[in-house]
Amino acid sequence: MFQNITGSVQRFLRYSLLSRQHIRQVSITQHSSTNQTELPDFKTSVDVHEHKLERPKRPAPRISKEELKILEKDTKGSLIPETLKEMQNDKEFKINMENIKKYGQKKLTREERKKRQRALNDIGIPSFRDFIKTTSKSEDKDFHGLLRKTPIEIFQLNIGLYCNQACNHCHVESSPKRKEMMNYQTAERCLEVLSNSPSVHTVDITGGAPELCSEFRFITQKSSELGLNVIDRCNLTALLEPGQEDTAKFLADNQVIVIASLPCYSAKNVNLQRGAGVFNKSIQGLLLLNSLGYGKPGSPLQLHLVYNPLGAFLAPPQADLEVKYKEELWDNFGIEFNNLFTITNMPVKRFADFLYRRNELKDYMHLLVRNFNSQSMEGLMCRNYVNINWDGKLFDCDFNQQLDMPMRSPKNQSNEAQSSREPSIWDINSTSDIEDLRIVTDSHCFGCTAGLGSSCQGTTV
Ligand code: SF4
Ligand code: SF4
Repeated sequence: MFQNITGSVQRFLRYSLLSRQHIRQVSITQHSSTNQTELPDFKTSVDVHEHKLERPKRPAPRISKEELKILEKDTKGSLIPETLKEMQNDKEFKINMENIKKYGQKKLTREERKKRQRALNDIGIPSFRDFIKTTSKSEDKDFHGLLRKTPIEIFQLNIGLYCNQACNHCHVESSPKRKEMMNYQTAERCLEVLSNSPSVHTVDITGGAPELCSEFRFITQKSSELGLNVIDRCNLTALLEPGQEDTAKFLADNQVIVIASLPCYSAKNVNLQRGAGVFNKSIQGLLLLNSLGYGKPGSPLQLHLVYNPLGAFLAPPQADLEVKYKEELWDNFGIEFNNLFTITNMPVKRFADFLYRRNELKDYMHLLVRNFNSQSMEGLMCRNYVNINWDGKLFDCDFNQQLDMPMRSPKNQSNEAQSSREPSIWDINSTSDIEDLRIVTDSHCFGCTAGLGSSCQGTTV
């Protein structure tokens, strides 16, 4: 042992000595000579800006010009007839529609919440809030105190449930059959509140397919005029619907940030989850956005993609999957984008039904609870978001909206109003009216705290 240490020290001293001698020699040579050619590798010019790092060469995309033309031709026309046909033939959609007709949406939602809580009871897990209280005690941190509204930074508008697709994981149960849409008066009121809310920096527009809703362009343009960032949560195929030929250009002209769903880079998986023909149309939508500068290096037009798992499992690490997506989409189609967001499938609505029918709800809830990560608490989106539905009601997040769980009443409401009404955009003048309110939670919230956390902007840890 002693020998080893002595040996190491000796080696170190010898090395230091040699190094010092070498440095002395080099500096002597440099000082004593003005001719740099005496030094074999000293050829660096002083115009350092001319020394560029070369980007590693990427292979040319595999898709040929002819194939691109065929893709463009084949993806023309509306997706809606295909979606409706699939809805008619799909057993689960049919059962769902029949149940809505028979029991009504409210009753089904209540039942869904009970099923989730029963699944948790079966594995001995209390309510989300109690679970957080216990975790706060055991980790000696106030996670429970984090379940309150901070100053609102993101104003999320769900402007309608109409969609040209009917994906089988959709937590808002959108489809071409849903006709609920925000009207002009509600949109105008939202903009009024926005103009009084200096803490908000971003308007996040979602749906359904928001571009297909009547007030989309009005809200986008007015929000841009207020100097706010605007996000369009785009399903990509909506850009190709007849009548939407100038939508992509409208987005570019208004510097809208596009966050687009693409749950896989494989055609088979995308079509399975989102419907026949969706993959090709999504690719065509991405090519269209790229052609306008979206997602290109150095361009101010941002294009982000969203991955959500196809089944009852958690998403892989976001950064690793982003590399894979970039490789696949470039190599196969020459598509570029900025970032990939991974989002956990929330056990809500269609995905909750999907799990329940397969007898997998309990296992999925168990998976979420087992992977609870207290570090995700600080980044929960419900803290700095407010979510507004198509008829102006206020929610802590989009999931609570779909579960009919309105947010608590704003501070300025009278006690009577507080007990009798669901708060709406007409009950607040500014988002500061809802700061510090307690967030409404339920069993689905375990979806946001599992693994690396999940929000509309991807992971939260
Ligand atoms: S997941 Fe998106 S694209 Fe699919 S039906 Fe729902 S809103 Fe439409
Ligand atoms: S579902 Fe997620 S975002 Fe919504 S209230 Fe629960 S924890 Fe917050």
